Amino acid sequence: MILAKILSIFKNLRISEFSLIIESCQLCNWKFMIKTYDDEMGVRCTRCLASPVAQSLGTTFKKYYKPTTKKIYELSSRGAFVRYLTKLNTEITLSEYFDNVESGTIYKGVLCQNVEKLTFLDNSFDICTSLEVFEHVENDIQGFREIYRVLKKTGVFIFTVPIDLNSATIERTKIENGERINILKPEYHSDNIRGVGKIFCYRNYGFDIIDRLLEVGFTNCEIIKPPKSVLFGFGRPVIIASKL
Ligand SMILES: [Zn+2]
Repeated sequence: MILAKILSIFKNLRISEFSLIIESCQLCNWKFMIKTYDDEMGVRCTRCLASPVAQSLGTTFKKYYKPTTKKIYELSSRGAFVRYLTKLNTEITLSEYFDNVESGTIYKGVLCQNVEKLTFLDNSFDICTSLEVFEHVENDIQGFREIYRVLKKTGVFIFTVPIDLNSATIERTKIENGERINILKPEYHSDNIRGVGKIFCYRNYGFDIIDRLLEVGFTNCEIIKPPKSVLFGFGRPVIIASKL
């Protein structure tokens, strides 16, 4: 699996854009970062293979992770950030979403959860995290509402989505006569589980994502911008929403 990942990173290698620098990985603290081509996807830690998205999330996560953090929920089951979480001395709950699989059931050995209808009890987790999930959630407000519900009173939600901070959110679909229709050309993303170009993207988020979080009750919502000086400038904004 790791070997396949390394090969996939080098598959798009462009020699003229290749670079190896000494910079600490935010997840595993290893000192060498590579860029195989000029794109976020071409940048990786050479040990844990964490992408700029995973490392950006890790940087912010570390500010909120405390010795008192008992329970964490991450909305995926694989990848460098999950490997990092599972090494912490904390109870970690992982899940995946699969079409047509009921929330709360085990599918292919993984807990399945639809974030629009989580099966966890209220006030269950200290921290919830997600990477690049909510743009794929049909009713994202309902998803945010559910995260709010399952967080403890002092809990925080820390996550990333593709986001353009110079724009308002663009919905790519709408409901008409009870049916969902595309306003814009369908856009699909890839992941480790479903493969390349398999996950429908409902929207392109902008700065007003904060309003959606406030709408469901979160407070102290903030978009943390990444420093340009790290990750070859490919760091990602990370969004934080607190329950209290
Ligand atoms: Zn690393």
